[in-house]
Amino acid sequence: MSESIWKKNLSISDRDQLEETIKTDVCIIGAGMAGILTGYMLQKQGLGVVILEADRIGSGQTRGTTAKITSQHGLIYNRLCRNFGAAGAWQYASANEEAIDNYERIIDEEHISCDFKRCASYLYTKKSTDLLEKEAEAARLSGIAASLTKEIELPLNITAALRFPNQAVFHPLKFLQALSEKLDIYEKSKVLKITGRKVETEFGKVWAKHIVFACHFPFINIPGYYFMRLYQERSYILALKNAMSLENYYYGIDNDGLSFRMAGEYLLLSGGNHRTGAKLTDSPYKLHSEMAAKLWPDSFTAANWSAQDCMTPEGVPYIGRFSKKAPNWYVATGFGKWGMTSSMISAKILSNLIMGQAGIGQDIFYPQRELCGEAIVGYLKNGLHTIKNFSKYLIPKSKKSCTHLGCPLTWNPEEGTYECPCHGSRFDSKGRLIGGPARKNLHTDGL
Ligand SMILES: Cc1cc2nc3c(=O)[nH]c(=O)nc-3n(C[C@H](O)[C@H](O)[C@H](O)COP(=O)(O)OP(=O)(O)OC[C@H]3O[C@@H](n4cnc5c(N)ncnc54)[C@H](O)[C@@H]3O)c2cc1C
Repeated sequence: MSESIWKKNLSISDRDQLEETIKTDVCIIGAGMAGILTGYMLQKQGLGVVILEADRIGSGQTRGTTAKITSQHGLIYNRLCRNFGAAGAWQYASANEEAIDNYERIIDEEHISCDFKRCASYLYTKKSTDLLEKEAEAARLSGIAASLTKEIELPLNITAALRFPNQAVFHPLKFLQALSEKLDIYEKSKVLKITGRKVETEFGKVWAKHIVFACHFPFINIPGYYFMRLYQERSYILALKNAMSLENYYYGIDNDGLSFRMAGEYLLLSGGNHRTGAKLTDSPYKLHSEMAAKLWPDSFTAANWSAQDCMTPEGVPYIGRFSKKAPNWYVATGFGKWGMTSSMISAKILSNLIMGQAGIGQDIFYPQRELCGEAIVGYLKNGLHTIKNFSKYLIPKSKKSCTHLGCPLTWNPEEGTYECPCHGSRFDSKGRLIGGPARKNLHTDGL
């Protein structure tokens, strides 16, 4: 991918590779937003923490985010009320609202300069207002001061918008840089194997009482079975200059809707979503470019990039114990492209669990929660999709297969990458691993 604007003029200092054996209280795998926040909270409470990062701090999906810190996660509250009842939706809303406040508190306490700003978040539609009206009611039932309006800053002919007040934005990597300074982090230290309390990288080992998987997609298949419960979705971002300025941010719920936020002088347009590994028939930037040309003809593209996130069948992350069979392992994944608040919620839930305190949100985010109807349908669809793609492996000409579970790969011409349609692992044109759950490069005879 080309580089996101967050990396411009920012360099996070390099850390050593792990080349020794260390004993600690908690070993965290992954130095993205979830891993760093969890490490920060645990260290604050006096525990010894070691973070192992396969690449560099913030080099995963966190560098590709649009970094809206919000409780407004698309049309989530109506869905939550349907699947988990009003109490579940309330729990989700309070955990997310608290996460926004926690960002503000930490930024204040640690004197972090990261362009944090409070603003409102809007969903908009140009079609029937039914969905937004239902969402407004469900959001209010969940305790959010949501209101319907027709007034937005964007020059779009909308029929309605749903406003959540007091949300926020920031610069994710400036925040990560500041928070990571006091943490014990090893870079270029990919975790290859975990047995009980022992975590192994190529050149070192960590013995830990607790192990946290904050590595985006958990790469251990059994126990946990996360590969059966997650898929990945990719989205594309265009940073426009000379477009317009916005005080708040927006997300369109119609098929041609995009997400909009301001970041300094750039207007970020995000969309073009597809399941990772899906065959592309058109440029994923088509909608962005058309909208930019129509609404802001004098604007130009200053940067573009893409990222992906793990999706759960019912739209709620998995945060908590990894599996009943591994009581000292914990997981934070399935953020559904809302990983800023979800990372903060993960840090709170996981640090509470590790410190032996009860935590809010434990029930709805519990990774082994009971399956609702939508989750069962999602599991089945996901399983069928995997079987369909995996069966192509049996056709001899499909040679490029993923080193995770052998699914045949597809080529993404926009990114110049091989992608797994089953679980979302990615490889560059030379077969080098870019992102998991796979842990190994492609076999060169597969190229
Ligand atoms: C286009 C797009 C826009 C988004 N916009 C928003 C938004 O506006 N607001 C919002 O809330 N969320 C947003 N998200 C979601 C958010 O960016 C992610 O959910 C979040 O960044 C995930 O953070 P993470 O720490 O879980 O993962 P990552 O940032 O990917 O961190 C995981 C780290 O683990 C490391 N790792 C992996 N395997 C190993 C291993 N074996 N050993 C050691 N290290 C390992 C990786 O190198 C990586 O650095 C967006 C997502 C996308 C795709």
